[in-house]
Amino acid sequence: MGTAPAAGSDLKGRVAWVTGAGRGIGRAIAIRLAALGVSVAASVRRPEAAFDLKEELESLGAKCAVGVCDVRSESQVGEFAAMASDSLGPLQILVNNAGIYRTEPVAGHSTDVWREVIETNLTGCLFTSRLVLASMIACGWGRVINISSISGKVGEIWGAAYSASKFGMIGFTQSLALEVARHGVTVNAICPGWVDTAMARGQLTDQSWLELNQIDRSASIDCARLSVPMERFIHPGEVADLVAFLASSAAGGITGQAINICGGLSLH
Ligand code: NDP
Repeated sequence: MGTAPAAGSDLKGRVAWVTGAGRGIGRAIAIRLAALGVSVAASVRRPEAAFDLKEELESLGAKCAVGVCDVRSESQVGEFAAMASDSLGPLQILVNNAGIYRTEPVAGHSTDVWREVIETNLTGCLFTSRLVLASMIACGWGRVINISSISGKVGEIWGAAYSASKFGMIGFTQSLALEVARHGVTVNAICPGWVDTAMARGQLTDQSWLELNQIDRSASIDCARLSVPMERFIHPGEVADLVAFLASSAAGGITGQAINICGGLSLH
């Protein structure tokens, strides 16, 4: 019996844009796509993340364009997309990954924090997506993959801004999927549960989170792990595998979906 080809092995030569690629899930996605022979436009928020990411992508033999782009800034998003498509060609796969989490109760919620979360997690998806759609439609092929969350399907206490943004990403995914379905462009959301990254560890050791859950800092990460039926966190590389599958031709019939990857933590 032969071995099944790796998910995304037909992606060689495609061009992908991954936002928030400096670390965590975004970085794992950029590296996985590069390893599959995809040319990767990787945008990062902190300039210092760019240098070693470029080195790592190039060490995989990938063509890449790495640059700074805060997804809340229309002008930075536009400048990055123009630079990336000039250097690599039309952007055919877009992964909206950049995101932030904040713990705060609604009573007394800071307006600035609300705006920061919604503008990063949700409005950023509009800024990036609208720039790539025309070329995807023109070539009759495209993939938009939005990294939402299981908190985009079920609300979470003290996470109103985050949940609202992630629910919003799923609504955006569904609407855009319908808009472009007949043009060979698919649009899907991925909904991770706990993934082992700086974001998850930061949330689980945040003072407000510890107080809310009445838990010691030392026990918090283990407690979250044991709340997952599989009793483990998801690895960033597993999210990257799902991205590669959704981008592949094998997933060409899947659009408008919000797919959980959470070790059974959410069944919704
Ligand atoms: P990290 O905090 O490790 O990485 C997030 C990345 O997004 C960072 O590189 C960060 O840049 C970047 N970023 C943040 N704000 C902006 C901005 N305004 N413009 C551009 N880039 C920005 O988090 P994860 O890797 O864990 O999260 C990635 C995505 O997955 C997020 O959308 C998150 O909501 C989602 N997710 C994560 C889960 C988890 O358990 N980890 C669970 C469910 C969903 P910088 O390095 O400069 O801060």
